Amino acid sequence: MDSFTLVIVSALVSTIMAATMYLLHRASRRTPCLLDWSAAGLCFLASNVIALLAMNTKLPFVVAPGIANVFYISGHYLILAGVRRHLGLRPRYDWLAALAVTILLLHATGFAHGAVSRRLLMLTPFVVGINASVVWLLARQTDKAARGSYLPLLVVEAAFMTQLLLRALFISAGQPIQLTFLGNQLWQTAGSLAVLAFLSLATMCCALIVIRHQELALRSASLTDSLTGWLNRRALLDMAEREFQRHRRSGDVLHFLTFDIDHFKSINDQHGHAVGDAAIRHVTNVAAQALRGYDARFRIGGEEFAALITGDDKLQAHQVGERLRTLIENSPLLIDGQRLTLTVSLGVAACEHDDLQWDDALRRADQALYHAKRHGRNRLSVYGVDLLPLATARLA
Ligand code: GH3
Ligand code: MG
Ligand code: MG
Repeated sequence: MDSFTLVIVSALVSTIMAATMYLLHRASRRTPCLLDWSAAGLCFLASNVIALLAMNTKLPFVVAPGIANVFYISGHYLILAGVRRHLGLRPRYDWLAALAVTILLLHATGFAHGAVSRRLLMLTPFVVGINASVVWLLARQTDKAARGSYLPLLVVEAAFMTQLLLRALFISAGQPIQLTFLGNQLWQTAGSLAVLAFLSLATMCCALIVIRHQELALRSASLTDSLTGWLNRRALLDMAEREFQRHRRSGDVLHFLTFDIDHFKSINDQHGHAVGDAAIRHVTNVAAQALRGYDARFRIGGEEFAALITGDDKLQAHQVGERLRTLIENSPLLIDGQRLTLTVSLGVAACEHDDLQWDDALRRADQALYHAKRHGRNRLSVYGVDLLPLATARLA
């Protein structure tokens, strides 16, 4: 293929990359990695525009291939920067600046002024290093839900890196190829086509990562209570069913712990709704310290909460509940220098062998909670201990 066509098509694909990433950014605020990837497209475009100019005009060596190569390497680096940003790492533009200066300085050396194949060899370690960083970062991710969306970019980066390495090996093995700047031998056509495929596929892979990320964020938001960050009632329906099925299969003990803030209406009435909200947040923050990391916790009503307590010890739920109650009682909320002591009442109930569904146990935990309310508040009642099932109570 003639190099003019290849450069034009590469410029077009780079433009599509820059525009797609930018438009996706406009459509989805707060996704700054898309700006890095859009800038990557612009860098690839700039490098192609310089190549086009160089076809018709004699440009100084520092511009073509010097600055053209700086743009090309920067394009690869900005893909890495976007991946870093997506993963919550600093994009490190300082490294990009250092890289750009290094590439430019290398073009001032005698080595770069030699044959085209020499410059190819000179740039290969940089591009391979950047590609390898992307592969390494993505391969390390453990988040199961997001991993699937990283795989395509990982494969594309790895494939591009491999073909570059193979080309470098071929050249350094001393194959008699006389490359010329913007030449159109099969060898160079294959390289240009590899870049074209890389740019097109990387654009799709980056879009896939962002779309999957947003889908997961939406899903998580639909299951999370915005005031406390705890799971909401919808999440409870889902998780309780799963835990209940597991309990039926394995016979492991499964408890529901429910709790409700005592006399909460009076907090709202005396201090206002905003302080009421702060009190709810305070209670969940303190309660989280008493619960174990793996106890799923839910806000199931205004100031009513539930936790799923799993484990093989029948006493565990009772101990966790009692720890939660005393911790909240002893952790007053500071409002304008005033100490506001909050208390909660709690109910605990276990899932039983003859339960047909998990809400039977939740209902019993609620009954225990209201038993605690009726018997003075700031206390924990256990279903089957503090209040007996109706049939047993009648017999007694
Ligand atoms: P008890 O000890 O019997 O639980 O008494 P209580 O006053 O806490 O009664 P109840 O549990 O029925 O109180 C619920 C109140 O919680 C009613 C409602 O105004 C308030 N509330 C519900 N959701 C919110 C919220 O998100 N923020 C605030 N500030 N108040 C809420
Ligand atoms: Mg209450
Ligand atoms: Mg209530």
